Order: sequence, then C-alpha cells, then structure tokens
Amino acid sequence: MSSVDQLRWSEPNDATPFLPERKTLSSLRDAAAGCRGCPLWRNATQTVFGEGLKRSRLMLIGEVPGDKEDRSGQPFVGPAGRELDKALEAAGIDREEVYVTNAVKHFSFTERGKRRIHQTPKRFHIDACRPWLDSEIELIRPEAIVLLGATAGKALLGSKFKLGESRGRPLESDLAPLVTATAHPSSILRQRDDDARHAERRMFTEDLKRVAQMLAAG
Ligand code: SF4
Repeated sequence: MSSVDQLRWSEPNDATPFLPERKTLSSLRDAAAGCRGCPLWRNATQTVFGEGLKRSRLMLIGEVPGDKEDRSGQPFVGPAGRELDKALEAAGIDREEVYVTNAVKHFSFTERGKRRIHQTPKRFHIDACRPWLDSEIELIRPEAIVLLGATAGKALLGSKFKLGESRGRPLESDLAPLVTATAHPSSILRQRDDDARHAERRMFTEDLKRVAQMLAAG
C-alpha cells in the first residue's frame, strides 16, 4: 500500500463532522479553519476558505489554493489570481461582487528542495472537502457558477467532465441557474511563450465576458 493510500485509510475522509450547526459564511469560515477532514491540513499553513459577499450573483470555483494563498489565507491572490483579476476587469466584472473559492481548501503540494510544488488533489481530498463547497453554494445561491479548470469541473460535475468539450457553454447542472466552465487562470502562466499566453488570456477573458453578458441578460 502506498503512503498516500495508508494516509487515506488511517485518517478521516470527510469534512462533515467539522461543519458548524448554524451555517453562516463566517461560522463556516471559522469552522473550516479547524477542519481535519482529510490529510491535507497536516502540511499546509492554514485553511483557505472562499471569499466574497453572501449576495454575490457569481461564484468562481477553482481547484486548490496555491503557495501564496496558503501563506496569506486568501484565495486567488498569487500569480493566477492576478490573471483572474485582469480578466475580470476586462470582462467588466467587479471582483468585489464575486465569490471566489476552491474545491479543496488546503494547499496540496510536494516539496522540491525549498520549493513547494502544486500537486493536483486526489479524488478523496475533493470528496472529503465537498461539504464546505456545498455549504458555500447553499448559502450564496449564486445565479451563475464558473468552474475554473478540469479539476473543479470533475469535482462538481463528475469524472466524465472534459474541459475541452464544456468550455464556455452552459452546462446541465442543478448547482445554479447558469453553470459553465473555463480554464483555470494558472493555465495562462503555463503556456510556452508570449503568443500562447496572450491567446489563452484572450480566450479566458472572452469566457468571462460571456458570463457577464448572460448575467446582465438574466
Ligand atoms: S482539504 Fe478540506 S477536507 Fe481536507 S482538511 Fe482541508 S478543509 Fe478539511
């Protein structure tokens, strides 16, 4: 049995016991700070809970906090967050009016020397963390949800989700009146050269513009 599997079987795999009795965004945030629902809390600095207003019409769901987010305790404040901010601005969406969160609330990484390298969370991390995300959706009841990247798509819509097929169009889901998907903003940073980065940035912005138009029409 691998060490990951050993941890999987020897530790809890569900955040449910950590949920507060009375759910508000602030009681959820406080309770999530003490979550031990899966092994990811052990090496991370802190829980990175979602951020935004309860009345947000739009919710963006990413994969997992990154290095900067882990240190600051806030979602989307690192390089990918800066890409997100630029794209939201270009799409005419005020970030203050958007609720941003992740499918998994603790940083998942491996160490390479002094560097902490992002590691895609496993399915059992995503399943364990789902009660937090479900609670956020239940409280905010957004008009639109945008899934950022394949991991968020699979987490919410199932393992058959394919970003290439689903990107930029309305998807069938009970999660919100409008559910759609686009790339994770970190994909812009992973492109091999400036041209590819500009193209990915343009596509990402266009996807968000379409969401803004649908929200304005709705
Ligand atoms: S990743 Fe989610 S389930 Fe796992 S410890 Fe953190 S908050 Fe709890």
